[in-house]
Amino acid sequence: MSRIKGQGPTTYIAARTGANRGQVSRFVKQHGLAEVAAARPGPCPLSVPVSGKINGRSWREHLDFNESAELMRHLGTAATIILLYLTGMRPQEVQGLRSGCCPDPEPAADGAEARHLIRSHHYKNVTDDDGNHISAGEVRKVPWVAITPVVHAIRVLERMVPEGELLLGAAHHGFRCGNSNAGALKSDTLTLRIESFVNWVNREAKAQSLSGQTIPDDPHGAIGLSRFRRSLAWHVARRPGGLIALAIQYGHMRTLLDARTSSGYGARRRHGIHAVLDVETALAAADTAARLRDSVAAGEKVSGPAARRALTAAAHVPRFEGRIVPRTFARKAAAFLAPDGIVLYDNPDAFLICAFKHDNALCEPEPGATAPWQYDCRPGCGNTVRTDTHARQLRERADKLDQLAAHAPGPVSKRLRANASRLRETADTHDNTAHPAEART
Ligand code: SF4
Repeated sequence: MSRIKGQGPTTYIAARTGANRGQVSRFVKQHGLAEVAAARPGPCPLSVPVSGKINGRSWREHLDFNESAELMRHLGTAATIILLYLTGMRPQEVQGLRSGCCPDPEPAADGAEARHLIRSHHYKNVTDDDGNHISAGEVRKVPWVAITPVVHAIRVLERMVPEGELLLGAAHHGFRCGNSNAGALKSDTLTLRIESFVNWVNREAKAQSLSGQTIPDDPHGAIGLSRFRRSLAWHVARRPGGLIALAIQYGHMRTLLDARTSSGYGARRRHGIHAVLDVETALAAADTAARLRDSVAAGEKVSGPAARRALTAAAHVPRFEGRIVPRTFARKAAAFLAPDGIVLYDNPDAFLICAFKHDNALCEPEPGATAPWQYDCRPGCGNTVRTDTHARQLRERADKLDQLAAHAPGPVSKRLRANASRLRETADTHDNTAHPAEART
């Protein structure tokens, strides 16, 4: 029997026995069970199957009633983080989502995969005919496109609130402590919940002997809601690889966001997340150009069909010092990204710089896209540029693959060794064809 203290265990025992809570309380008092339970505490296991696994093992022997409210709260927070992080929505827009906002799509007539769309309110710059701000916002004419983890997060939240209610409705996210507030959880509350979630993840990681997976302290303080939107743009712009699951999601986001002229997103022109994405992409491209300039100044040679074009572009791209981005920079960033062929994308996973020109691109970006499909970078593309640093990194990666191959089973080992020798061939091609920058210009 559990610690018979407070309302939780009374509710648990009432639910298990069919007695009402008053009967349980009287029984506990009559028989002095509170003292017995304090001396011999125990769990309140729920008859809910445990399906989650960590490293192939169930993450809990059973789910405990005493922990359930905390777990529900963290589950709601995790779903909120996914919505904030993988839609690019503003916090207010996420807080305005309601159950039923993202129905399963009808199959497309041409058999193409239909996308989940989120229909919701937006608030920024919503005014009436007299120019007064409408605080209630309005239903956004153009829906958001939801990628798979976002749909899952919405489905989780839809199980926590009644149909048609706000997905983050305060009245339904209080769990054990209860909350009679109307409206969605406030931004301050959500920020506190994110901090509490981070603490819980770190405790859980230690308890599961996964100390390498703790979330480090953030030097910039608490993770405010608005930081997710900017982080999404940063990752889309700068991290084509990284963890594969994230790479795929960011890749999808880039495709969805870049199809501005061919999909509903086009109707939003270059406002909102597009402007944020443009700024991050422009900053990343400028960093890449600066690194290329520094490499050739240090005497590195350059190879690849786009080498001359990249060197010319690098010579003309300004260096952005610091990170304070004024509002007006968004327009400059869009103008900088518009011309085809002079924007340099770092692609550390393919060990190259991509001097993106749409017509040359073997990764088949969407029509009108201003960025390559770096996740699907193909050998032999006319946009490729490599420096001596890339050749060195290719050989280092090949050595790592050989080390892995030495401990891998037969077919896997063979594949790893084949990849290693392909990387070395690419490095050799660089060595045999690279020239100093002066010979290219
Ligand atoms: S395939 Fe070509 S355009 Fe696409 S990422 Fe690779 S180098 Fe760039």
